[in-house]
Amino acid sequence: MKETLIDVKDLCIQFQTPGGTVKAVDNVSFDIKKGEVFALVGESGCGKSTTAMGIMQLIKEPGRIAGGSINFEGKDLLQLTRDEMTQVRGKEIGIIFQNPLDSLNPVYTIGYQMTEGLLVDKMDKKEAYKLAADMLRDVKISDVEERMKTFPHEISGGMRQRVMIGMMLCRNPKLLIADEPTTALDVTIQAGIIELMNELRKKYDSSILIITHDFGIVADIADRVGVMYAGNLIEVGEVFDIFDNPRHPYTRLLMKALPTITKEEGRLETIRGSVPNLAEERPGCGFADRCPYARDFCHHQKPELKQISEGHMCACHFAEGGLKDEQ
Ligand code: SF4
Repeated sequence: MKETLIDVKDLCIQFQTPGGTVKAVDNVSFDIKKGEVFALVGESGCGKSTTAMGIMQLIKEPGRIAGGSINFEGKDLLQLTRDEMTQVRGKEIGIIFQNPLDSLNPVYTIGYQMTEGLLVDKMDKKEAYKLAADMLRDVKISDVEERMKTFPHEISGGMRQRVMIGMMLCRNPKLLIADEPTTALDVTIQAGIIELMNELRKKYDSSILIITHDFGIVADIADRVGVMYAGNLIEVGEVFDIFDNPRHPYTRLLMKALPTITKEEGRLETIRGSVPNLAEERPGCGFADRCPYARDFCHHQKPELKQISEGHMCACHFAEGGLKDEQ
């Protein structure tokens, strides 16, 4: 069995708002093994990106990490000082965001930005330049010498995202967090970026936490997947287990909403209702108002995330006994 790289336990992230305390991430626990790709999936606002920002400790006021632990290679990231955490960011855990233009500095060249982190690590200037140029070749950028001298606005969106991936991998982090890395790109460029990430994970043996709302991307790259809903992790399992045998009603409905070329039906299924207000106290299951299988007690008793078979966990009162179709 592979060694665990990061173990997130009971992570709680809250935001104080005029409408009350929003529990954006509520007792979320998962781990990622060395060399593994773990996907966090769910609709917008379910807490996936906030979980990633919590791991990086980039939660800004009025938000705060209200509880839990994040054990990374024997140290709890939540107990580190600001300076210690600065050493972890970029060097041990790298993050790439949806829009690389927000992450790249418009007034510095690609070469400057690629080598900056390496120079902070006290690498010799020439060596840093060579490593950065080799990395650009690895992420399939052509004409590397020229590209090192260009500014971010002079290259395409797909190329910028490749540069960001290369920049993060330059410092060889043990964990790469990719937060919706392909959402801002068109479909063919998306496929290229996912293929590239697959190649690089094998070459550099990095663990990846990928955050996405797209099950197609999950199928292409992930080993295991965690489904989030309203700040909670509601199902976790091996990717093929989740696709073949989704046990939580929300996961099932998400699967039904997937377009496929073999489906005959005209309109795609939708999930009725909307995500609950996270500032309101919910004693029962967060999905109860939208769930076609809900019973009265679902509104009062919160289901725990429990193991239902090896490596497969689900938070639904009926996950173990099985759901009878559309009650
Ligand atoms: Fe639906 Fe009840 Fe399961 Fe929640 S616990 S997902 S409401 S059946």
